[in-house]
Amino acid sequence: MSLRTSRLTGFYRLSLAERRCRLREAAGLPADGDAFAAVDPGALDLDQADGMIENVVGTYALPFAVAMNFCIDGSEVFVPMVVEEPSVVAAASNAARMARPRGFITEVSPPVMIGQIQIVHVADVEAGAAALRAEADALIAEARRMVPRLTDRGGGPRTLEIRELARSGPDGGVLVAHLHVDCRDAMGANLVNTLCEALAERIARIAGGRAGLRILSNLTDGRTVRVRCSIDDAELASADAAGPEVRAAIAAASRFAELDPYRACTHNKGIMNGVDAVLVATAQDWRAVEAGAHAFACRDGAYRPLAVWRERDGGLDGELLMPLAVGTVGGALHVHPGARLALELAGVTQADRLAAIAAAAGLATNLAALRALATEGIQRGHMALHARGLARAAGATGELVERVAAELAAIGDIKADRAREVYARLSATSVVKESP
Ligand code: NAD
Repeated sequence: MSLRTSRLTGFYRLSLAERRCRLREAAGLPADGDAFAAVDPGALDLDQADGMIENVVGTYALPFAVAMNFCIDGSEVFVPMVVEEPSVVAAASNAARMARPRGFITEVSPPVMIGQIQIVHVADVEAGAAALRAEADALIAEARRMVPRLTDRGGGPRTLEIRELARSGPDGGVLVAHLHVDCRDAMGANLVNTLCEALAERIARIAGGRAGLRILSNLTDGRTVRVRCSIDDAELASADAAGPEVRAAIAAASRFAELDPYRACTHNKGIMNGVDAVLVATAQDWRAVEAGAHAFACRDGAYRPLAVWRERDGGLDGELLMPLAVGTVGGALHVHPGARLALELAGVTQADRLAAIAAAAGLATNLAALRALATEGIQRGHMALHARGLARAAGATGELVERVAAELAAIGDIKADRAREVYARLSATSVVKESP
């Protein structure tokens, strides 16, 4: 799918039905049938759900949305998002609009995962490690023969790295063999685990020890995405602050995160807002990516921000580097209809493109959060959305949602009981027609 533009102005003001129509046309989805049936309530049927996990008693819905304005590596893209938190989609779309003149530029590494084979009670770790290194080529050749189709696709086992973990202790001498596997378009966990299990006994014998655990590492530091964007001052300016002021404040916020793990953690949470929303929409293992991201964030011993922002003459440059193990085949993708629609809307067939899009979404939500913090503070926008949610929960529909939310914001008391009070009063006196 080649998309002409991801900039559908006023999309958020349309009704849900109008949005479907507009998006279908813009994304070139088929006009016959309902292009969005895959994200209708109940689209994942109970039988499918029952086959996915254990002890199923139902399915659980979350909103499915599309972030606008993204231009990634020169291509326009609709970014699918599933998230329960208000303001993430709006934040991503706003930041992508600011970044649009140049767009997001990404570099995605080859999709190399690490499988770990632990070897315990190695009598002589140095000799064991040397023996394994001497046999590495033969072991890789054997591993490649186990995955002929993956090898034919240009992937497969690449290298074997041996690390010494302990010379003595409760587990004796401990070595770990890292099997590096290019997983192409698969996330690769099952694939790598199968290879590790198949090779473990032979590897332990060569090392002169016993096989311990054999499983992938989620610290996929060989499978990373770097994404950059560059925003001009004019784009950064807000109603109350000039561009250079906002730019300086964002760069200062980045330095704060670089100095302090307490801040870095929240900074990274803002990145994961965008990343995870894309991962959930596309049925990825977001726990795996989360675990990898945070382990990567403290790879030099201190927990650091995954993205940093620097001032340049007339603007701001941002760069995010993180591990991102995702797949466009395997996992839950073969059963989940919404995830397949998400990939179609994003125009994604390959894992590296999905990783690039998730990372760009992460840099966008990071930028939006920092800009809000640097200007009006994050709560104003956030609480306005929260007020609408409370108004709906109190029973308001149609125009009353906005009226209840506006009153809650005006009195500065955005709480559920106050929303019920305001709604009760406004609905009793309202001449405004509620939506049916
Ligand atoms: P999978 O088991 O479904 O295997 C993917 C398969 O797709 C491969 O066997 C391959 O033969 C095939 N394939 C078809 N076209 C391909 C292409 N172009 N490139 C690559 N492979 C292609 O999925 P997986 O990716 O091996 O494992 C992912 C699943 O494992 C996820 O559901 C994840 O939640 C789960 N998991 C994760 C962990 C962890 O992260 N620690 C541990 C265990 C399982």
